[in-house]
Amino acid sequence: MDLLKGKRAVIFGVANERSIAWAISEALHAEGAELAFTYAGEILEKRVRPLAEGIGAKIILPCDVTKDDEIDKVFQTLKQEWGSLDILVHAIAFAAKEDLSNPYVLTGRSGFHLALDVSAYSLVALTRHAAALMEGRSGSILTMTYMGSEKVVPNYNVMGVAKAALEASVRYLAYDLGPRGIRVNAISAGPIKTLAAAGISGFKEMLHYSSERAPLKRNITAEEVARTAVYLLSDMAGAVTGEIVHVDAGYNIMGM
Ligand code: NAP
Repeated sequence: MDLLKGKRAVIFGVANERSIAWAISEALHAEGAELAFTYAGEILEKRVRPLAEGIGAKIILPCDVTKDDEIDKVFQTLKQEWGSLDILVHAIAFAAKEDLSNPYVLTGRSGFHLALDVSAYSLVALTRHAAALMEGRSGSILTMTYMGSEKVVPNYNVMGVAKAALEASVRYLAYDLGPRGIRVNAISAGPIKTLAAAGISGFKEMLHYSSERAPLKRNITAEEVARTAVYLLSDMAGAVTGEIVHVDAGYNIMGM
């Protein structure tokens, strides 16, 4: 359909072919966007580079989002190579394993900082850099969240708190950047089996529980998230900003 023909997008958060960011990348590519990728470390480069090159990406850069110099370098390169940017996809989260299994009350200061830094602050930092390349281009920014920000999901713990900060950041960033024509939105996805999900204690039960209770009586796929991402990142959602769109087979509407 070429909904994104001529658009340039940078993707943060591909770890492997099961990553939500990868499903989004494939969908953006199918709609005609040109893509640049980042990876979080040398081990991941081996998995990300072949995937990215397979869809014609030429810009593939390291970026640990806790390091300002690595973030600076990504956007300097994008400025040199592309001059401007239309789309930023942020699909990054991390918390220490013990903080996703112990009771939340045991979360220590360093675990709290780490989860909030990687999973929430990184959106603010990346958005600031991306916005500088989006002047006059109706840019669009998308992040990924989960309902554990709104309600208690056992074991999600500090990640739920980080996602609450992330969602509030979406609204504040949308307010700041709206006058410049830049939109900021999030997708709140139902559980999907990925590398990050495997770190959450009891993830299998989460999958089972939500498929039983969601109105659509099933789990969702990364491809379904990707199709909503295309909508939010394209002009089809030209008047949508600051929103948290649930793609969860309706699970979040249930009370009992
Ligand atoms: P994933 O494939 O494991 O992706 C998570 C990504 O975050 C990985 O590429 C990971 O790289 C990256 N990351 C972690 N720490 C980083 C750092 N310091 N710097 C740069 N990148 C870093 O898992 P996913 O499920 O697709 O997750 C993508 C997003 O969707 C996350 O925000 C997640 O919370 C959200 N989400 C997932 C689900 C689900 O059920 N899967 C549901 C709702 C929302 P490393 O592998 O190197 O750490």
